[in-house]
Amino acid sequence: MRAPPGKMPDTMGFRETLDDLFPGALPAQDYLAKTTAALRRLGFDREHAIACVGVCRDELTRPFVDQIQRIWGEAFNFSSLAGMLLLGRTGFSAALHHAPTGSEIRRYIFFAMPHIGIGQGGEPGLCRRAGQDQPSGACGALIAFRKELEGGNVRLELDPDDVEQSLLKQRLFPLLRHGDVPDLPHLTRIMHSVIVEDLERGISLAVDPLRAAWAELTGIQIHGPDRQEWIWPAESQAWVQGVREPLTIG
Ligand SMILES: [Zn+2]
Repeated sequence: MRAPPGKMPDTMGFRETLDDLFPGALPAQDYLAKTTAALRRLGFDREHAIACVGVCRDELTRPFVDQIQRIWGEAFNFSSLAGMLLLGRTGFSAALHHAPTGSEIRRYIFFAMPHIGIGQGGEPGLCRRAGQDQPSGACGALIAFRKELEGGNVRLELDPDDVEQSLLKQRLFPLLRHGDVPDLPHLTRIMHSVIVEDLERGISLAVDPLRAAWAELTGIQIHGPDRQEWIWPAESQAWVQGVREPLTIG
């Protein structure tokens, strides 16, 4: 229910949209506290695990990465535009080889998420950037793709001057119904499902499940007014030497 005019807190529109579009979203620090506690119960600690983080290149995503690194130490960077996982088998393999040794199994913690801004009035896609007096958009890569869809002229060939955005379009376009232009929150959820699929593909190519333990922490990173950082946690899980352990976070 909306507060009466004049009594509305500044971020009321933001919270309504957040609760409506991303029910169960948590402040980023609460999300990290819960995931950290859950992983510690499964034997993950800073000395015996490496974090691998895939988020959008946007500077808005950095405070979350910094929080992860304060908990888990220096992280391997999986990031590309929109959080696409473009590092491939070689990138996954490199990250895994950087995990601490000295125990029977190697431990990896994978964070992988697209992102979206929500404006103070609850407008999906809007954010505020340091030093700018007007709101701007996030995720810019997904917003640019939506504009091409709206124009009805999506270019899908690999543009050597725009490699990441080309691959993003090639990956997302076949998942849309013909002529469909999903709104930005919906497109962000589709991006999330692609990231989950590509994360699991990368793990399957690079990880020996019987000699490893890893966590798959995916969701959607949300930027709110006043530098608020929220995470909508998707279904998350860990695997310990071939045994799946569901992680309850939301
Ligand atoms: Zn972005």
